[in-house]
Amino acid sequence: MPELPEVETTVLSLKRKVLNRAFVFIWAERPDKDMDKIIGKKITDIKRHGKGIFVHLNSGEILFIHLKMTGHLLLGEWEHCKNNQTGEKEWCSQEEVMQEKKNGFLRYVFFLDNKKQLALSDPRKFARVSVFTKEEADDYVKKLGPDPLLIGKEEFINLFSGKKKMIKPLLMDQQFLSGIGNIYASEILFKAKIDPERTANSLGRKDIGRVYEFTREIIQKSIKLKGDSTSDYRLVTGKKGGYQDHHLVYNRGNLPCLICGKKIKRTVVGGRGTYYCPACQK
Ligand SMILES: [Zn+2]
Repeated sequence: MPELPEVETTVLSLKRKVLNRAFVFIWAERPDKDMDKIIGKKITDIKRHGKGIFVHLNSGEILFIHLKMTGHLLLGEWEHCKNNQTGEKEWCSQEEVMQEKKNGFLRYVFFLDNKKQLALSDPRKFARVSVFTKEEADDYVKKLGPDPLLIGKEEFINLFSGKKKMIKPLLMDQQFLSGIGNIYASEILFKAKIDPERTANSLGRKDIGRVYEFTREIIQKSIKLKGDSTSDYRLVTGKKGGYQDHHLVYNRGNLPCLICGKKIKRTVVGGRGTYYCPACQK
């Protein structure tokens, strides 16, 4: 699932390329009346909170996109062509990278006023696309925890202090802290040398402070590498990000720990596959 660094990378690219563009036509795989509301509207800003993308329009409305499990946004040019086998119409692109399978599950195509298109590719169809009023967008954000890039260390420490839940599921609980998912939770706790099954209330303020520092460090590092394409996530160009080549523990079960050389273990914490070093993380 795209997490904060992947969504931030997407938002940064879109801000460079689609600000001040207007929507001229929107194709949706399943008819979506909401989209009629935003035809002709201009993109004035693009923001992120946690894993959510908020495309602000000159009408005051907000196009909200949540990529969920397997969605990613692409910028390119597509046209309808006929599938040689089924005879059905489908979207095709001349660009080679867009022909990669992960980029071929188009659910929405937003036509912009510069002949380019913004498309949502989503193999498993869980992504959410909605048009919010400002109030609806505010309500949505209110239900989420703070974004780890937007809060200070003290606030972060106070948030976690005394909580009975295990640290890893807590880091990933979007109502508690918004943006971290399964990949980065494992990576952060390895850096902080904390066992993912420790409860937050067993950690001192110093330990939680370390979690804060490494949350920001790992997130910033991944944003620099343009996110993690272990799974379906791709850049808006259709290419892969780079963080998957820099994993510390994630997906490294039975491989040697980068610090002590002992084997990285895979276990299940809160129902999710979790990687950690039993020797380094206490
Ligand atoms: Zn180790």
